[in-house]
Amino acid sequence: MPAPDFKRAYPSHQPLPETGLWFAINQHGVIVAMNSDEVCLPSGASHLPGLERPSNAILLGEIDATACLACAVPDDIALPEGYRTIGLRDLYGRIDDRLYAIAGYATQMLHWQRTSNYCANCGAPLAPIPGEWGKRCLRCGFTAYPPVSPCTITLVHDGDRVLMTHKPGWGTRYGLVAGFVEPGETLEQNVEREVMEETGVEVCDVRYWRSQPWPFPHQLMCGFYARYAGGELRIDNDELDDARWFTRDDIRNGRPTLPAPLSIARQLIEDWLAQQPR
Ligand SMILES: [Zn+2]
Repeated sequence: MPAPDFKRAYPSHQPLPETGLWFAINQHGVIVAMNSDEVCLPSGASHLPGLERPSNAILLGEIDATACLACAVPDDIALPEGYRTIGLRDLYGRIDDRLYAIAGYATQMLHWQRTSNYCANCGAPLAPIPGEWGKRCLRCGFTAYPPVSPCTITLVHDGDRVLMTHKPGWGTRYGLVAGFVEPGETLEQNVEREVMEETGVEVCDVRYWRSQPWPFPHQLMCGFYARYAGGELRIDNDELDDARWFTRDDIRNGRPTLPAPLSIARQLIEDWLAQQPR
């Protein structure tokens, strides 16, 4: 998540600051400057020829007194030498974590700008609401805001073992039960329902851990622990092709392949493992 020292800005800041860090984003990811193997974000106003003062830029906020600017870059633009596009997932670990979080935020906000031009109610153009990221329909007054879709992701534990799930195409990697929160449902009810639907087991002692914005495209992953309470494994074949228990020793011995370090699933597993006796 953007760090506490990231100070958010709201529209409309005009004119935009002359200099700052650029989160320039196309369909494939974030445009970065490569210095041998080192990755950095373009900064200043003139470091990205052809993109200075892009008309669609927005000010996201500032970090360490440096403005953070985002702009959408057409896919067909030829990048200057020394620049390349890195997919948002692949960028993790290659720039400062605080900047990585802002890159995710930038991606979500540009997605919102791109997909919120027309009213979902009547089809007329939407116009920005001053001072907010929301937009309002000029014809019917319908308002819309950048979407955030809550999801739960749950580590189901039973003594020294953890319930992990597998989807087709995942190879040796297993993950945790996860799902979108439905209208009218609490996060805790969602945990119980998703675990039951995907794996057929009951859980109790549902406990919130922490959350993570997941900009693919706009989920908020809410991490939970839940204790196994009963039932036999019976997987939902529409979603999964396997679910099984892995012991702490299995995981310490590298079985199965764990989710990517970026994900809250991985962080939940690491957190659980750290609480287990050696
Ligand atoms: Zn409308």
